[in-house]
Amino acid sequence: MTDAPDKSASSSGAPSGDLAISFADRVNRIAPSPTVAISSLALDLRAAGRDVIGLATGEPDFDTPPHVTEAAIRAIHDGHTKYTQVDGIPELKAAIVAKFARENGITVTPENISIGTGGKQVLFNALMATVQAGDEVVIPAPYWVSFAGIVEVAGGTPVYVQAGFADGLKMTPDRLAAAITPRTRWVIVNSPSNPTGMGYSADELRALADVIRPHRQVMVLSDDLYEHLVYDGFEFSTLAALAPDMADRIMTLNGVSKSYCMTGWRIGFAAAPAPLVKAMAKLQSQSTSCPNSIAQHAAIAALDGPTDFIARNNAAFARRRARVLAALNAMEGVTCPAPDGAFYAFADILGLIGKARPDGRVIETDSDFAAALLELGDVAIVPGVAFGLSPAFRLSFAAADDTLDTALTRIASVVETLR
Ligand code: PLP
Repeated sequence: MTDAPDKSASSSGAPSGDLAISFADRVNRIAPSPTVAISSLALDLRAAGRDVIGLATGEPDFDTPPHVTEAAIRAIHDGHTKYTQVDGIPELKAAIVAKFARENGITVTPENISIGTGGKQVLFNALMATVQAGDEVVIPAPYWVSFAGIVEVAGGTPVYVQAGFADGLKMTPDRLAAAITPRTRWVIVNSPSNPTGMGYSADELRALADVIRPHRQVMVLSDDLYEHLVYDGFEFSTLAALAPDMADRIMTLNGVSKSYCMTGWRIGFAAAPAPLVKAMAKLQSQSTSCPNSIAQHAAIAALDGPTDFIARNNAAFARRRARVLAALNAMEGVTCPAPDGAFYAFADILGLIGKARPDGRVIETDSDFAAALLELGDVAIVPGVAFGLSPAFRLSFAAADDTLDTALTRIASVVETLR
């Protein structure tokens, strides 16, 4: 906020630029989200007149369904415009309890439900409530950037488990077992995954649960945000349903952002042990007070309403996924495994490292490749280094078909110029 007017400095005559703000360790030890940084750079270039196509962000390009927007408008007219219960209104908690029973086979009560300003705040609350200096959180890499960032804000240490291309971009039970120590507080499982789209089968999840079960101090975070966005018959499963004996230490995170095209509404939720839900509410009471009241009513309409639009959206995503896979795998030096879900392709670009651009600059890292795509091809993607696996990149295919086709043609042209 260095651009904010500095009234105290001007009244004392000192130039505002002299103001030295010292920042807390918790902000000094983290970096801004790299995915947001790349999207911002693409927006800046577009504002400067460049025809940049952004495939860096993670949100559906479809509008929120009309029955949801209408519920929000009704909520405004009905006067649902005041503070609500700290971690959500009872009607939405009831809809979430029903969702977990109906869709996931998870039996919970309203005392197990925490609702926040997006899944990100719910995750933030959970980690801030439980992780402190010396605590470790096991995160399979590549990972969604906020898993690492929030652990670091909380003062904990992320412990990365490599889940590379050779392992199908999934954490194996052996590697998980080797990563758990007496200091481990959480293991994070995200299926289908951001950034890779890879999903764990029920058997794979059971094998991970078997590794975690004997370690009583370890909680499990199952991030299921992409539950409904799956392809090629992939069957979504979740740990709390497969290991009900571990219910007292599993938190199942979900929300309406991705499946219901509601990223801007900011409603996320979790099913978790009641004492954890209480601690999270305590934190939330001192930060945002409650989730947005109107968006909570909209979320009820989303969870209780028709879901046929999800299949329609998935058909479009599946079509785009096929185009992306065909185009990327046709490029020399690029290999892209087929994602089970989400709307991301995560490509291996080992074959491009060491090649030179027409101006002679050598592609030494995936960041160099991302820079080349932006400079020479006007396409923004996110280099794998941002997610903890290099050399690679993530491309979001949540973009209109013709935009995606243009972007793929441009990427192919840039790749062809590399020697
Ligand atoms: N979890 C994963 C894996 C995500 O990719 C995201 C968003 O990008 C979230 C959680 C949080 O989503 P939201 O805060 O919009 O609910």
